Amino acid sequence: MIYLQPLGSYPNLIETLALELEKKFYSIAGNVKIMPLRELDKYCYNPFRKQYNSTCLLFRLEKRWITLGITEVDIYADNMNFVFGEAEIFGSRALVSTYRLRGENFKERLLKECTHEIGHVLGLKHCSDRSCVMAFSNSVYDVDKKSDEFCEVCRRKIKG
Ligand SMILES: [Zn+2]
Ligand SMILES: [Zn+2]
Repeated sequence: MIYLQPLGSYPNLIETLALELEKKFYSIAGNVKIMPLRELDKYCYNPFRKQYNSTCLLFRLEKRWITLGITEVDIYADNMNFVFGEAEIFGSRALVSTYRLRGENFKERLLKECTHEIGHVLGLKHCSDRSCVMAFSNSVYDVDKKSDEFCEVCRRKIKG
């Protein structure tokens, strides 16, 4: 099961996202369930940066395989101005922020970043194939350039 956990608010298109993720990961993880809204942990807010700490939010998610937190607030990680998301590699939890994905291609960007973070949970690292969804993205420009699919190499790794 993929538990889609909204944090702080229900992001736009969360139902569409749930359906798309279910199509993609059904054979590996089964159904996608949208969980009741949870508050953002104020402890994770950095008032100097006016952003939430991504790792802090990630570690407060329930450890159920696979839990994908989704939030509309801006998030950062150490040494990064912002991140689109974060995940435990070969763990159970991932987090995506919609904050920097807004704009024309929002729906596609959201699916790509959620697929990317779930890929990490399934054990994948960043991929050098720029069209692979596991390619690292520095900007929405990079997100728009890649596809929402795993390349053959990455696909083989998660299918075992
Ligand atoms: Zn990544
Ligand atoms: Zn790849």
